[in-house]
Amino acid sequence: MMINIVERNCPICKNSLVDVSEINPDIDPRLDEKIIKKYWSGFYKNNVFFPYYRCNCGFLFNKSFPDEESLKKLYSNEKDNVIHGDLELDLKTKKYYLRQLNFSLNNFEKRYNVLEIGADNGNFLKLFQKQYKNSSLYAIEPNQNMKKNLNEVTKNVFDSIDEINDNKKFDIIIGVHVFDHIPNLNEYFHKLNNFLSPSGFIFGVVHDERSLMPRIFKNRWPIYRLQHPHLFNHSSLDNFFTKYNFKKIFIKKTKNYFNIGYLLNQLFLSLLKLRISVPNLFSVGLKLGNFCFLYKKNK
Ligand SMILES: [Zn+2]
Repeated sequence: MMINIVERNCPICKNSLVDVSEINPDIDPRLDEKIIKKYWSGFYKNNVFFPYYRCNCGFLFNKSFPDEESLKKLYSNEKDNVIHGDLELDLKTKKYYLRQLNFSLNNFEKRYNVLEIGADNGNFLKLFQKQYKNSSLYAIEPNQNMKKNLNEVTKNVFDSIDEINDNKKFDIIIGVHVFDHIPNLNEYFHKLNNFLSPSGFIFGVVHDERSLMPRIFKNRWPIYRLQHPHLFNHSSLDNFFTKYNFKKIFIKKTKNYFNIGYLLNQLFLSLLKLRISVPNLFSVGLKLGNFCFLYKKNK
């Protein structure tokens, strides 16, 4: 497998004049493609990621990143997208996300045309359908291991956005931990925008690179990783949507549900490079390092 690395400008403002990286890994993946394959998914003692640069516009992004063909190969082997594979916690977390969306989208009788990109195990769509029973659901998920679960929620499951009929329009497009993974943000956003109805919404959840976590962990924050070509904060995300003439409905910190044992294991691994195995114990909902957002097409 050949991995081809390309050089990028800032995906938001196109600026290419950033010289010095702000966050650097222990091991630079540009040295050898074997490193990229080995560290692509999972959590390790060594932090391996492409160096992050801070653009003048405030966006934090990788100048070097694998091209699209290489990414397809790297992602096709993924097993489970849910970070720690715990379905109950995943459901709790997604219920919390849905509650945020309900504040603005409270017509439970309406038939919403919904598209979820990176629909993962389908849990979010399943919850959505329980609440908005008349909705019509579409899902995009390239990971073949997720297809079985997703097909139980909807028959409209696609590998890629390019497979959806051009004339289709959606009222809401959802992306939970997806926008941090898309290197060609502008190109992809153009496609999404074409599928969005004139007063449609985009709802998403992303990591917050200005949250408390990266300040504590420094370059050991587990979110600095190969799969994230850029990371947002509230203002860089807002810059991005403003550029496309979208109207902000909200940006909010979100709760994620974790097992205490899992958190301790991660803490030891990231800060002390020690692999310990504390049992899961109980779960807590913490506003640790993510935020959700809702934007409306401003036309
Ligand atoms: Zn920029």
